[in-house]
Amino acid sequence: MMLMPPFELHHPSTVDEAVELAATIMAKGEAFDWVAGGTDVLPNYKWRINPKPHVISLAGIEEAHVLSSEELGCMVPLSSLTAENDVHPLLVQAASKVASSLIRKSATVGGNLCLDTRCFWYNQSEDWRRSIDWCHKADCGTGADCRVIPNQNTLCVATYQGDLAPNFMVLDASVVLIGPDGERTMPLAEFYELDGMKKNVLKTGEFLLKVMLPKEAAQRKGCYQKLRVRDSWDFPEAGIAASWVPGDASTLMVASTALESIPRLHAQQVGDHLEAGELDPVVLAKDVQKSVKPVNNTALPPRYRRSMVKTLTKRALLGILE
Ligand SMILES: Cc1cc2nc3c(=O)[nH]c(=O)nc-3n(C[C@H](O)[C@H](O)[C@H](O)COP(=O)(O)OP(=O)(O)OC[C@H]3O[C@@H](n4cnc5c(N)ncnc54)[C@H](O)[C@@H]3O)c2cc1C
Ligand code: SF4
Repeated sequence: MMLMPPFELHHPSTVDEAVELAATIMAKGEAFDWVAGGTDVLPNYKWRINPKPHVISLAGIEEAHVLSSEELGCMVPLSSLTAENDVHPLLVQAASKVASSLIRKSATVGGNLCLDTRCFWYNQSEDWRRSIDWCHKADCGTGADCRVIPNQNTLCVATYQGDLAPNFMVLDASVVLIGPDGERTMPLAEFYELDGMKKNVLKTGEFLLKVMLPKEAAQRKGCYQKLRVRDSWDFPEAGIAASWVPGDASTLMVASTALESIPRLHAQQVGDHLEAGELDPVVLAKDVQKSVKPVNNTALPPRYRRSMVKTLTKRALLGILE
C-alpha cells in the first residue's frame, strides 16, 4: 500500500500571500513544494520521491486562473485549452495529447511547464529504489551515483517529458515568474536549465504565474507530433512542434521535448538551414535529429527515439506546409 507521507498544506489566496508563506517556511530552514493539480507531485510523494514537510497550493490565487488567447494562468486546467476558450489550435492539439481526459481536468498549464524530469531509475516505488541502492537524484543521504551516466555523482540527466513546452516555444511564449525578489518575465525558451535536478531557472520561493503569447502568435499555423507507447495516456518518448506564419519561411520555429533534461527550441538548426537555401523538410528533419542526444532512461531505447525525431520533424513540417 502506498500511503501519502504527512505534510502541511497551505492555501494562500493572493500572490503576495503565497510569496510571503514561502519566505516564512524558508526562513525556518524548512522545505516546500508548490502544488497545482497535483497529478505529478502527489503520486511522487506516495512513492516517497523527495517529499517535503510543506506544500503550498496555488489554487486559491485568482490571477493564476486567467485564460485568454494571449494570457494563460498557471492554474488553468488542460481540459480548458479548447477552441471555445479562444486558445491557439496548436495548444488545443498538444493539450489533447497529454495523459487521459480525467487527468487533464486536474492537470494544469503551470504544472506541465514545471513538470519534474523523469527517469526509469527514479520514478519507482521506495522499495524498488532501495533495492538498487538509490540514485543521485533521490539518494536518501547515501551519496549514490547516477545510474544512467555512472562514476560521477554531480549530474542528473533525467528527461523532461512535458508536452506543452515545445508548443508554447514555437508560439514565442514568455513566462511571468514571481517570488520574494519581485516579478520577472523571460522567453519560455530561456526558462529551462540543462540539469535534471534543478530543471529550470526558478529560485526557491519563486513560482510561474502565467504564460504570455504575442499577438502575432494567432497568425501562426502549428503542428505537434508525439511518440508514445500507448496513445491512451503515456508521456512523450519524443515530441516535435513546428509553426510558421504561412508563406513566410523566416518565421519558422521548431522545438522538441522528451529528448533531454530540457525542452529545446531548435533556432540554430532552423537558422542555418534557411541560410543555406530553400526550406527542405527532409534535410531540416535530419539536422534536428543530429542535434539531439537522448539517454537510456525512458520506456523506449534512445536509438529508436532519436531515429523517430527525423520522422516526427518531417511530419510536423509537412503538417504546417500543406
Ligand atoms: C498516468 C499519467 C500520465 C501522464 N501523461 C502525461 C503526458 O502524456 N504528457 C505530459 O506532459 N504530462 C503527463 N503527465 C504528467 C502530469 O499529469 C501533467 O504534466 C500535468 O500537466 C502536471 O500538472 P499538475 O498541475 O498536475 O502539476 P503538479 O503535479 O501539481 O506539479 C508538477 C510540478 O510542478 C511544480 N509546479 C506546479 N505548478 C507550478 C507553478 N505554477 N510554478 C512553479 N512550480 C510549479 C510542482 O511543485 C511539481 O514539481 C501524466 C501523469 C500521469 C499520472
Ligand atoms: S539520470 Fe541519474 S541521477 Fe537522474 S534520476 Fe536518473 S539515475 Fe537518478
